Amino acid sequence: MPEIGADPYVSARLEMVEKQLRSRGIRDERVLRAMARVPRHEFVPGESAATAYEDHPIGIAEGQTISQPFMVASMVEAAEIEPADVVLEVGAGSGYQAAVLAELAAEVFTIERFPALAASAQKLLAHLGYANIVVATGDGSEGLRQHAPYSAIVVAAASPSIPQTLVEQLRENGRLVIPVGGAEQQELQVVRRLPDGPRIERKYKCKFVPLVGKYGFSRS
Ligand code: SAM
Repeated sequence: MPEIGADPYVSARLEMVEKQLRSRGIRDERVLRAMARVPRHEFVPGESAATAYEDHPIGIAEGQTISQPFMVASMVEAAEIEPADVVLEVGAGSGYQAAVLAELAAEVFTIERFPALAASAQKLLAHLGYANIVVATGDGSEGLRQHAPYSAIVVAAASPSIPQTLVEQLRENGRLVIPVGGAEQQELQVVRRLPDGPRIERKYKCKFVPLVGKYGFSRS
């Protein structure tokens, strides 16, 4: 886990936690602590470091984005991560959300369709000392069956529907957090795998880049 003692962005990050997260209803203290620890400025292009803690998504390579801090905190909170959990993230992007998840879980697998993003996320996460994250390249709309079952799956891209294969890769009582809808707007949904079938909770409107793959959209 990163040592943040000499970090010039500590106060910006703490202000982000208070003004963008706690004041908007993020209540889980473990999530707030994780967001206060992960050096978000390391995950954005160098020219965006000064704006890394502002209240918006930021462009990264391959035309993709690192999500708005509130969105990351809200999805991670909805995933109800416990310390022993094994978690899958679909859409590694910069690796930022994987780092937040790794602060809370025992092990995090994250999968990214762009090899260049996967490679740079892997390099950065290793540099920051995250030993409990594995970065894979491939179509995460199919999940990552070889490491299933997962306590939680967090999909950081918009899906036209809930991929059944992701539900199947949850353990019992596992949570799938996923934006579902059209390319322009989605609804954040939490699917819980219960013994008598999945239970879906609909949360709020959101906007993500598309999940492109076999069980997502056919192209970006
Ligand atoms: N979690 C990322 C972060 O913290 O930087 C941000 C994710 S970005 C909003 C969505 C990511 O999902 C993009 O990097 C995109 O390439 C990726 N993606 C889209 N479809 C995918 C798929 N089928 N499998 C894996 N990754 C996918």
